[in-house]
Amino acid sequence: MTARRRVVIAANWKMHKTRAETRAFFKEFLPRVAHQPPCDILIAPPYTALAEAVQAVQGTSVRIAAQNVHWEPAGAFTGEISAVMLAEAGCAAVLVGHSERRQLFGESDEMVSQKARAAITAGLEPIVCVGETLAEREAGRTAEVLTRQFRQGPGALTPLEFSRIMLAYEPVWAIGTGHTATPAMAAEAHRLLRSLVTEQFGPRAGERIRILYGGSVRPENAAELLREPEIDGLLVGTASLDPVSFAQIVGCSMQGD
Ligand code: PEP
Repeated sequence: MTARRRVVIAANWKMHKTRAETRAFFKEFLPRVAHQPPCDILIAPPYTALAEAVQAVQGTSVRIAAQNVHWEPAGAFTGEISAVMLAEAGCAAVLVGHSERRQLFGESDEMVSQKARAAITAGLEPIVCVGETLAEREAGRTAEVLTRQFRQGPGALTPLEFSRIMLAYEPVWAIGTGHTATPAMAAEAHRLLRSLVTEQFGPRAGERIRILYGGSVRPENAAELLREPEIDGLLVGTASLDPVSFAQIVGCSMQGD
């Protein structure tokens, strides 16, 4: 049996928290995870709070991520932020292809692969998100959608580039709805994604890739999800806004062992 991949617990704050609220979060959160199990903790605040967050986690193992990135290093792209800028701001990682970006801002699979490549080039670790809508699941198209999103998105990277990324399976119907996928449903999707990775990049890549689950994760269901060996971590939206509940989710990261 392969050793368990290191668990990742990631927070996506979306368009929440001012700088003052960010400071208050870390003041509460950091002491609660100081003696927690060794897992990777990533927090993605909005752009305006990045500097505050980077400063707050100095000297800890918590890393800061951005929620989006443009694929060009610089240029006339009003309102956009490049990977180089994020790296300079102290980010270690970046979310790419979150379903809200895809659905509300028209992000295509091709943009997702360009963004992931730009992030890698700047030394950031992309967390590439994929996931089907409720209509797609109900139409029996989950595998088809995940396969397309994978092949045209992260699957378009080179093997070396691919070795630098994580994947997140986030069924759109589970995001912010309170409807969590069962561990078995998530595991089925993760197995499919892992098999696509193996098919394209080989068995070592398939064994190595960390696949996070996201969609209405809460302290009450985190341990159960993490007990599923296919689930290598969690991407948490709503429940990550509260330092106590996010610290509780981090605390669940050992219980899967
Ligand atoms: C997300 O936005 O990535 C997410 C998983 O949100 P929530 O936990 O609120 O469903």
